[in-house]
Amino acid sequence: MQQSEFIGLEDQYGAHNYKPLDVVLTRGKGVWVWDVDGNKYLDCLAAYSAVNQGHCHPKIMQAMVTQAEKLTLTSRAFRNDQLGPFYQELCELTHSHKVLPMNSGAEAVETAIKTVRKWGYLVKGVPQDKAEIIVCANNFHGRTISIVSFSTDENARAGFGPFTPGFKCIPFGDAAAFETAITANTVAFLVEPIQGEAGVIIPPDDYLKQVREISDRHNVVLILDEIQTGLGRTGKLLTEEYAGIEADLTLIGKALSGGFYPVSAVLSNTEVMDVLQPGEHGSTFGGNPLACAVARAALKVLFEENLIENSYEQGEYFLNELKKISHPHIKEVRGRGLMLAIEFHPEVGGARGYCYKLKEQGILAKDTHENIIRFAPPLVIKREEVDLILEAINQVLSAS
Ligand SMILES: *Cc1c(COP(=O)(O)O)cnc(C)c1O
Repeated sequence: MQQSEFIGLEDQYGAHNYKPLDVVLTRGKGVWVWDVDGNKYLDCLAAYSAVNQGHCHPKIMQAMVTQAEKLTLTSRAFRNDQLGPFYQELCELTHSHKVLPMNSGAEAVETAIKTVRKWGYLVKGVPQDKAEIIVCANNFHGRTISIVSFSTDENARAGFGPFTPGFKCIPFGDAAAFETAITANTVAFLVEPIQGEAGVIIPPDDYLKQVREISDRHNVVLILDEIQTGLGRTGKLLTEEYAGIEADLTLIGKALSGGFYPVSAVLSNTEVMDVLQPGEHGSTFGGNPLACAVARAALKVLFEENLIENSYEQGEYFLNELKKISHPHIKEVRGRGLMLAIEFHPEVGGARGYCYKLKEQGILAKDTHENIIRFAPPLVIKREEVDLILEAINQVLSAS
């Protein structure tokens, strides 16, 4: 079948809730993916950082196959022999007190919202149904009704009301605005340490430290959504490490399974999670043995292969080289670890054209918010492969 036929089928039978680049992929290995015509591309999106360990990592694949042959799903009505070890390994790695496993990232966010509301009523003494959660403008936390209720992206919200109340939105990166927004009913602050979907927006250096201090002072639960930034993407296991702080609740997902299977988790560093009692929250697939086995292998690969250090080193090199490019269309380059972006001036007419030109050079990258291209390749990337991306960027820019 031709690429155009696959594209035709998707467009004819599928809901049109995505506008993908027209490349039909069939195979992946490490940083590379192949389309159905056999063209090879370096993947600079890594499935929005779900494939930090590289496509089809053999060790994660082996763990998945081995576990799939033994036991896949028990539901939490019974215990399974993967869940305990998964909890222990994850808690030890992240210095957490408790874990609550879910599947998608959005479910982890929903879980955190429910947990802090309950904590607000039971522990902080907030009057029933008055709990407030502070969030940031241009956030991305997922697609459920409650989550889009506090999105500031009209595309994500328009037509989906009525919305869930109880959220207050402030500018990102502004610690003073956070303190001003806090009331007696504020139970939590939900924030991304670096805003990913917004276009790799990095807050001021002391932001998270200040936010931590303000949260402590006002008895507000600090929830860091590290679903995209976590697990090595920014050059640390968790991005909070750059600020030398620990969130009360940390949300992880995406690369927690190395891209094999949806696995997410809420990590709790405090007693907040203890407010949940049997029957109050759950998921049929959350914490299933297949997910746990895959996640255990995916975490192991991050450390065994030094992917976090590699992300730091290659990211630093990548950013320094990007900074050397001088082109009138570029407004800014920025990044931390292997989460980087080029922002173009609005007059250039959008970044998507550049994405298609990069594709011709064998580089798959995705535009976000019109004028920004994010570069977030799998963390297994080598120096020579970063050079390939840089060459392609230079090539495409010099021709424009
Ligand atoms: C992707 C993402 C989510 C949502 O994860 P899904 O698995 O798509 O539901 C939440 N928060 C952040 C920061 C993300 O990047």
